[in-house]
Amino acid sequence: MKKVLKVVIIFITILGILNLAQYRTHAAEVENTNKNETQQEEIIHTESKETESNQNNKSETETTKSETKKDKISLNKTKKTLYVGEKYTLKIKGTNKKAKWWKSSNTKVAIVNSKGKVTAKKKGTAEIKVKVGDKKLKCTIKVKNLPSDNKSTKGVIYLTFDDGPSSTITPKVLDILKKEKVKATFFVLNYSKSNEKLIKRIVKEGHTIGIHGYSHEYSKIYKSKKAFLNNVYKLQDKIYKLTGVRTKFMRFPGGSSNTVSRHYSKGIMSVLTKEMLSRGFRYFDWNVSSGDAGGAKTSNDVYKNVTKNLSKRRGNMVLCHDFAGNTKTLNALSKIIKYAKKNGYKFKAIDKNTPMYAHGVNN
Ligand SMILES: [Zn+2]
Repeated sequence: MKKVLKVVIIFITILGILNLAQYRTHAAEVENTNKNETQQEEIIHTESKETESNQNNKSETETTKSETKKDKISLNKTKKTLYVGEKYTLKIKGTNKKAKWWKSSNTKVAIVNSKGKVTAKKKGTAEIKVKVGDKKLKCTIKVKNLPSDNKSTKGVIYLTFDDGPSSTITPKVLDILKKEKVKATFFVLNYSKSNEKLIKRIVKEGHTIGIHGYSHEYSKIYKSKKAFLNNVYKLQDKIYKLTGVRTKFMRFPGGSSNTVSRHYSKGIMSVLTKEMLSRGFRYFDWNVSSGDAGGAKTSNDVYKNVTKNLSKRRGNMVLCHDFAGNTKTLNALSKIIKYAKKNGYKFKAIDKNTPMYAHGVNN
């Protein structure tokens, strides 16, 4: 009898220990989840590439499984290319231990902070090293310059349409582009349910979709960094949900050189231009203006403004608008395209190799 009692007591004790261990693991998990949530909130919308983070989640689960067999600690990337000014946070996987230190082999090229956040400074290569427990891990960071005008952009025309989509102008612009087999870029604003089909059509027909902003109202969007970021991400999310494209191409309302933002926040363009690049966005200004939102009174004015300012010696970023009622550009478009083709220009939609043609900041 005593023996049986002993066995039962031992059994109960083991059960108790197991339960406690389980509780501890659970508590740690809860704490981790909470931490992650706060981190995400801090960055307002975060790094935002959903597909990428999904992939990360998958491999995280895989790591957790293999971890039980052999305690495998690694970095989420061993190689990463960044553009000057871009930031990227490296993550340690397979452990809850914190890094003892992070170091860069070349702080002129890239620096790293105590949380693994890397900032690309200058073209070149740097090794980012981290010590976790008694292990050292590393990631090779290659820093590239942002694209600039080069051989491949000479004589290229990047037609861009801002402030759309509109049910009256955008479909007709798309029809002309289709007929002429020309690809262009649309920097859109928030759109209604009935204009969703236009956003889908832009993507389906091979044009580039970019962000102008959820709102165009200077007093609201240039009030603060937070307000501006919300204005960008709100539209980026909406476009992503509709088309599956998470665009990182954008054009600042008023251009990056605008001075109107001074009225709402001094110095905000200096902050925002850096901020967007650090988040992996590209903003595009222009070097040819059609004048269709200002000076041009007729479609002939638009035609002249564009064709007279085109140059074969560089890329041509042409500013046009497809807002409702803008028949000036609509009626000039075919003629502009025909002129350009006849004179040996090529049309391209913006992609990651396109120079930004940034005006320079005035606020
Ligand atoms: Zn605009």
